[in-house]
Amino acid sequence: MKFGKAIETSARELPEEWQPYVIQYKLLKKNIKQIVCELESTFQRLNIALPADPDEAGGPGPGADKGPETIAYSIEKDSDGVVHPVIRVKVRRQTPPPAQDLAADAAPDGAAGPGGHEETQVTTVRLEADQLFFDQLLEYIGRMHQFGQRYSGAYCANVSHLGVELAAVTSPYKHDYEVWREIFRLYMDAEVWAHSEGDARPMSTSEEGHRRFAKFAQHIETIGLAQRLRDPMSARVLMGFYKLNLDLAHMRLLQEMNDQATRKIIKKHDKRTHLVAKAQFPQLIAIDTATLTRALAQAIHNNLVGVVPQVDDHLCPMCLSIAWKPLRLECRHVFCSRCIVKASRSRIFDCPVCRARGAVYRASVANLDYALLNFLKLYFPREIRERQRDIQQDISDDDSRAVVAAQAQGHHCIVM
Ligand SMILES: [Zn+2]
Ligand SMILES: [Zn+2]
Repeated sequence: MKFGKAIETSARELPEEWQPYVIQYKLLKKNIKQIVCELESTFQRLNIALPADPDEAGGPGPGADKGPETIAYSIEKDSDGVVHPVIRVKVRRQTPPPAQDLAADAAPDGAAGPGGHEETQVTTVRLEADQLFFDQLLEYIGRMHQFGQRYSGAYCANVSHLGVELAAVTSPYKHDYEVWREIFRLYMDAEVWAHSEGDARPMSTSEEGHRRFAKFAQHIETIGLAQRLRDPMSARVLMGFYKLNLDLAHMRLLQEMNDQATRKIIKKHDKRTHLVAKAQFPQLIAIDTATLTRALAQAIHNNLVGVVPQVDDHLCPMCLSIAWKPLRLECRHVFCSRCIVKASRSRIFDCPVCRARGAVYRASVANLDYALLNFLKLYFPREIRERQRDIQQDISDDDSRAVVAAQAQGHHCIVM
């Protein structure tokens, strides 16, 4: 499928009111035809050879010396920020005096060569069609940018609003809290928009994000999580959360389409006219479109998904279970008391995470983090109960081993 057709098909996936923000690729393509016509007729009139194809093997590109003529193409920005494409043709000719003017605005730069008179003339050519092409392209980009800014404001307001409702249904005293925790845990595992922290891969494309989101929503459906939500407000919040993800997929699609259309149309411009704009164009537009959708994905995370506590954020680095009776060492690392006691018995005196010298050795009951302890008790009662049971079992196993060891050494057991 041709790109012009493909972009029209993709645009149909977007909401009706977004259509004015899709770059009109076909229209710009027509403009390029006009640039070529104007270029040919102008150069013919000025008796200058047309710019050579920069991609031709061994052929010099515009700006390079080609026989007696040098063609330089530049896209300049004036003090008002308006972009102007300009062609400057430098012609060197051996001419007997008087010199023959090539164009009205030619600026002769005479130089005497041996055996005759060599003259250099610089002719500035401004093509109307080329100007129109860039005016239109930049207008589309500017319009898209403004729309993005407006949309981002409204989107973030929606996220905040939903965040307030979410806070109400995810209070640890409410039934739905545990269900929400599970929903968001699965959402994070699905890596819908971003990859996990420290992963250098870029943000998901619209297609990837859409596919991963659909898989996540399907999973929620399959395991019946949504049905376990009791509060009617929870159902509304879930629908709102789904919609935010789909809206983000749309914005990402619009962005991708426009970025691709811009790249392609500039490439076509350069190929047809042999006037190379590709290297100069990105510097003229200071718009990083990917930043916008990244900010939207970040808003979802910061205000919704990341707000509901997850047990994974409170694991002891030694036993990888919830840090029950958490001890905060002087280096600020947190472990469960049980692990610190065991480490100390095994003569591990430095912090197992950062190796802070003597941090374990100096830990005492004063290092117990009561605020964290109460937080964990409130938000993870089930995990805490399970962990307490395990620790109890661990302690009684230790005691049994101690008794067996004592008996083996012929000591009388003081317990029995
Ligand atoms: Zn531990
Ligand atoms: Zn440490």
